[in-house]
Amino acid sequence: MDLLIKGIVVTPQDVMDGYVGIKGSQIAYVGKERKKAERTIETPHLLIIPGLINTHTHLAMSLFRGLVDDLKLKDWLYNYIFPLEKKFINKNSVYWCSLLSMIELVKGGVTTFVDMYFFEEEVARACKDIGMRGFIGEGILDFPTPDAKNSKEALEKTEELSEKFKEDELIDVIVAPHSAYTVKRKTLERCKQLSLDKKMLFNIHVAETKDEIETVEEKTGKMPVEYLNDMHVLDEYTILAHCIHVTDKEIEVLKEKKSTVCCVPESNMKLASGVAPVWKMIKNGVNVTIGTDGSASNNDLDLLQEMDTVSKVQKLRTMDPTAMDAKNTLFLATANGGKALHKRIGKIKEGYIADLAIVDLDDVNLIPYFNPYSHLIYSASAYNVKMTIVNGKIIYEKGRINTVDEEEVKQKVREIASRVKG
Ligand SMILES: [Zn+2]
Repeated sequence: MDLLIKGIVVTPQDVMDGYVGIKGSQIAYVGKERKKAERTIETPHLLIIPGLINTHTHLAMSLFRGLVDDLKLKDWLYNYIFPLEKKFINKNSVYWCSLLSMIELVKGGVTTFVDMYFFEEEVARACKDIGMRGFIGEGILDFPTPDAKNSKEALEKTEELSEKFKEDELIDVIVAPHSAYTVKRKTLERCKQLSLDKKMLFNIHVAETKDEIETVEEKTGKMPVEYLNDMHVLDEYTILAHCIHVTDKEIEVLKEKKSTVCCVPESNMKLASGVAPVWKMIKNGVNVTIGTDGSASNNDLDLLQEMDTVSKVQKLRTMDPTAMDAKNTLFLATANGGKALHKRIGKIKEGYIADLAIVDLDDVNLIPYFNPYSHLIYSASAYNVKMTIVNGKIIYEKGRINTVDEEEVKQKVREIASRVKG
């Protein structure tokens, strides 16, 4: 064994007092016995959890954190974000701003992200540098983006990236058309074909606002989920971000097709897009995961806080405090994420990939300790994460990122942002 850690292990199905052993990139042992290892960590009061999985984000948007707030999605996106992206999003800004976001994620116990943006080869480069797990998707739109003239070019980029990272241990390339209101049917069909041909996940924004529902209904006569189902986009390799405005019939379709819904509660609240029927979807057997969206609409990437939010908002939506209990909520960022991404992550189990986060129960906001699910969802935040392990390697420990120079990253992003202000 290379590394052995003692603590309260949240698998997340069960909880046990014991040890987790890592050999290479794998979890090699989970149990009560103290095994021999190169390094053993036996600090008291540790909570060992699966590395958290953020299934919807736009990492480089940290460049616009706090720049444009308090607007409606349509106004925010078309009048501010799209023009800002045209001007300031390039290879250099995507690399440094994505890396800044990755540091924030890792410090909050997140080991895997699903990103949809531009210049994704730079996101992949940053991801390799920090050593975390990334699912990267070149944003596909029918109009010009900062790095593609049209959807054809963006699709070609996606295909090139998939070839480049075919055998990569940390990077998976996905097909990421923006939405049914910004991408034509023909393009969506091409995207799906590519995802089937190359066995890539298909990721799209769906049913985020009432405006979107009206636009899609006007164009197609159908609700967005129905429309996507009609063109055979939905299957177990599809991840739909948002799904706020969905009918019971559409929830039934999502369950039948085994598609994943990624809820994005804080961004939806900030843009007043609505509250997704998350608990209803879970009760009806839909695989639900969780994401933060980009830092321009959240405005942080703290997934522990995001789980707190989704649980409390669902209790309010259903007017039932027993809804969206802590244990079920933890599944969104762990086991359900692993299922959506078809990877052996999200669980602490022998043979699974060693992606782990360690929370310090010695912090004042976590004392006393009775129940790990309660603490993780209702009390903890990124601040309480003390160690993050990806693919068997410790990349964050004792407040320090081991793989990249945090000070350099902060300095570079400040430099880039000074031009945005000016
Ligand atoms: Zn998004």
